[in-house]
Amino acid sequence: MDLTFNERELAFRDELRGWLADNPPEAKPPADADDDAQFAYRRDWQRRLYDAGWAAPAWPREYGGRGASQSESAIYFEELGRARVPFAANTLGLLLGGPTLMVWGTDEQKERYLPPILSAEEIWCQGFSEPDAGSDLASLKTRAVKDGDDWLVTGQKVWTSGAQYSKWCMLVARTDSEVAKHKGLTYFLMDMEQEAVQVRPLRQITGEAEFNELFIEDARIPDANVVGGVGNGWKVALTTLMNERAGLGFALQIRLRQLLDDVIAAAAEKGLLENALCADAIADLHVRCESIRLLAWKGLTDAERYGQPGPEGSLVKWLWSDTNQRLTQLAADVIGPQALTSGTSWSYELLRARGNTIEGGTTEVLKNIVAERVLGLPRLKVAA
Ligand SMILES: Cc1cc2nc3c(=O)[nH]c(=O)nc-3n(C[C@H](O)[C@H](O)[C@H](O)COP(=O)(O)OP(=O)(O)OC[C@H]3O[C@@H](n4cnc5c(N)ncnc54)[C@H](O)[C@@H]3O)c2cc1C
Repeated sequence: MDLTFNERELAFRDELRGWLADNPPEAKPPADADDDAQFAYRRDWQRRLYDAGWAAPAWPREYGGRGASQSESAIYFEELGRARVPFAANTLGLLLGGPTLMVWGTDEQKERYLPPILSAEEIWCQGFSEPDAGSDLASLKTRAVKDGDDWLVTGQKVWTSGAQYSKWCMLVARTDSEVAKHKGLTYFLMDMEQEAVQVRPLRQITGEAEFNELFIEDARIPDANVVGGVGNGWKVALTTLMNERAGLGFALQIRLRQLLDDVIAAAAEKGLLENALCADAIADLHVRCESIRLLAWKGLTDAERYGQPGPEGSLVKWLWSDTNQRLTQLAADVIGPQALTSGTSWSYELLRARGNTIEGGTTEVLKNIVAERVLGLPRLKVAA
C-alpha cells in the first residue's frame, strides 16, 4: 500500500477540488426540515454531480463513469467529505445496485438500469431484511412463484431504507424451498410502482422515517429482471453486501474525522482540552480514526488487487460504528444540553449513531466474519 499520490491521481484530485469549489450544493435545508425536503436536496445534488460527470467516477466509462482507479475513488470520497457536501440521493444504487449489476447483470440489464441510477432518475432500495430474517438472511420467507414469463412475489420486507422514493428494489426471494436454504434464493429487480407493493414508513428515534416496511402481495416481476440466474441469489446478494461495507465504509470514515474535528473545536472553545479525561477521550478517538482510515485504504488496495472488495470491509464497518457511537457521546458531554436538544445536528448525530451497529450487518455478525474469513479462526460449533 503506497499512500503517495501519483501525477494522474493529483490531477484527478485537483480537477474535482476545483469543480467542488466552483459548484457548491444549494443551501442545506434546516436539520428539522421534513424528509421529502431533505431527499429533494440530495437528489438535486446528485443531478449536479451527474451533469458534470462526477456521480460515480469509479464506474467504468462504458457505463457512464470515469473508469477511476480504487485510489482515485478514495480521493473522490475524501474530497466530497472535505467539501462537506451531502450524500447522493441514490447512494444504494450507486454503491450497491450498480456494482452488483456490473458483476452479475446481462448486457440488456446494464444498458437499461445503469444510466438512470447515475442520473438519480430512478432511485434504488435494498429489500433483503424480513421480520424473521436479518443477520440470517438465508432463512428469508418472501417467495416467488413462476407464472408464465413472470414471477409472482408475496411476502414482507422490513427496514427498507428509501423505499418511499424508490423505483427499483433489489429483492431477494425464495424460489425453491426443496433445496438447502442458501440455494433456494433468487435476486430480482422489483418495480416498486405497482399496487401489489405497499410501503409503510417506520419512524426512527431521530424523528425521520428513513426506512419502511414493504408488504408484497402477488407483485409481478418479469423473468428478464432476475439477476445472476434462478437459484443464485445468495451469491449475488453477497456481492451487494461486500460493496455495501467497502463502499460506504470509506465514505463514512471521512465523515467521522470531520465530526471529531468539530468535537475538538467545541472542546477548545470550552477550555476542555486541558481536562485530562476529555483530552484522553479525544486522543483515543484520534487513534481510532487514523486506524480506520488506514484500514479503509488497505481495503481499497486489496479490492484493486483482487478485483472485488473482500471481507476486510467488515472490520472497517465494525470499528466505524463503534467509534461513531463513542464520538457522538463525547460530543454530548462536551457540548452539553444543546447537543441533546431536538432539531439540532448534534442530537441527530447522537441518536442516528444508535443504529450504526445494526445496519449493514450487526457488530456481532461482523466479528464472526472477521474471525472466520480474515483471521481464519475455526467456526464455533454449537451443540444441538
Ligand atoms: C438504519 C438502518 C437501516 C437499514 N436499512 C436496510 C435496508 O435498506 N435494507 C435491508 O434489507 N435491511 C436494512 N436494515 C436492516 C439490517 O440489515 C438488519 O437490522 C440487520 O441485518 C440485523 O438483522 P435483525 O434486525 O433481523 O436482527 P437479528 O438478526 O435478529 O439479530 C438480533 C441480535 O442477535 C445477534 N445475532 C444474530 N445472529 C448472530 C450470530 N450468528 N452470532 C452472534 N450474534 C448474532 C445480532 O447481532 C443482534 O444483536 C437496516 C437497519 C438499520 C438499523
